[in-house]
Amino acid sequence: MLDLQVHSFIKGLVCPVCHEHYPAHVINTFCYKNECNTSLYAEYYLPQNLNPDEFLAGRPANMWRYHEFLPVESPDNVVTMGEGFTPILPLTNLEYITGDCEVLWKDESGNPTGSFKARGIGAAVSKAKELGITNMVTPTAGNAGGALAAYCARAGIKAHVYMPVKTPQVFKDECRLYGARLVEVDGNIADCGKLAHQEATANGWFQVSTLKEPYRLEGKKTMGYEIAEQLKWQVPDVILYPTGGGTGLLGIWKAFDEMEAMGWIGSKRPRMVTVQSESCNGITRAFHEGAASAEFIDGGFTVANGLRVPKPFADKLILKVLRQSNGTAITVSDANMEAALKEIAANEGMLIAPEGAALWHAFKKLKADGWIGSGEQVLLVNTGSGYKYLENLKIE
Ligand SMILES: *Cc1c(COP(=O)(O)O)cnc(C)c1O
Ligand SMILES: [Zn+2]
Repeated sequence: MLDLQVHSFIKGLVCPVCHEHYPAHVINTFCYKNECNTSLYAEYYLPQNLNPDEFLAGRPANMWRYHEFLPVESPDNVVTMGEGFTPILPLTNLEYITGDCEVLWKDESGNPTGSFKARGIGAAVSKAKELGITNMVTPTAGNAGGALAAYCARAGIKAHVYMPVKTPQVFKDECRLYGARLVEVDGNIADCGKLAHQEATANGWFQVSTLKEPYRLEGKKTMGYEIAEQLKWQVPDVILYPTGGGTGLLGIWKAFDEMEAMGWIGSKRPRMVTVQSESCNGITRAFHEGAASAEFIDGGFTVANGLRVPKPFADKLILKVLRQSNGTAITVSDANMEAALKEIAANEGMLIAPEGAALWHAFKKLKADGWIGSGEQVLLVNTGSGYKYLENLKIE
């Protein structure tokens, strides 16, 4: 029998491809057995008899309200700044554009360090603290570095951040202010990844590169729990997600799996939509060509730096979720992202990240094409704050 008093219901880790099991009380990365090279998924005991409203009653309004479904076994190791439980906001003045669809923003901009990276990194740093890790490394397009630097500062862990030189200054400044070691790399995020890997391996530092570490996915998964809880245990018809490495998309889907297994939600699932920048469109191409994996595609600068991921490590898993959910994939140009960002700011009072703004343009396109039908409820995940991107926007 599962002891309901434990802090975490974690059982262990499993490879979604070869189903090999790994223990959760030791340091793990990804599945290196059977030539999988795949992200590991945390597995939990999922009790059948919990009433979610009673179970969650009186808990704090942050992602740790779901601590049983997060990997940290001792509350003393939780490193938190109140991340998560972000609002779901309806549109107010642009409803004339959405017609009879209901468009909702899951607004992640209020998280510590200004993006939803706080969720994934918060979970990863907490678990790293529990496992006695002293140095953490990440390549980053910006937001993951800031979050790692901040959460490591709080945990007393040394952070090493590898960022392209051509990243807006604010992303660099925040890392330095949080006391991280910042390495500016003359190249893209893949180049950052290579250097980070070399130096981490040489020095025995722990890498938290997207989905090569099992727990960032768990932190981002809490978005899925929140969406269901905030919508009274219903799920939207469609979820649009700005996909970089895909952690959030996979995390939301995993949350739905877990909640369905516990009877918290029914079998209805949203159609999941990957939105990419035109310059990094590997998933979109692969999806429409019917391919199982994505090519490495890096067409250069995009204002949405979080979307400049030439080949996500979890490409196969992302494509599988898009297909399983009857979803789709679509790209947006920088010009359209900027226009969408401005339209949302001026009409809705929200200064959203260009990654999030891409979704607004994508929504309008999918609605015009009829892919989104009348009367559907559509949730857009605004993954971050626009304030960090201002130097790259043309503002008249
Ligand atoms: C990292 C990032 C993304 C991409 O997130 P994934 O879950 O890795 O796909 C999107 N938007 C912003 C603002 C980001 O920082
Ligand atoms: Zn495997």
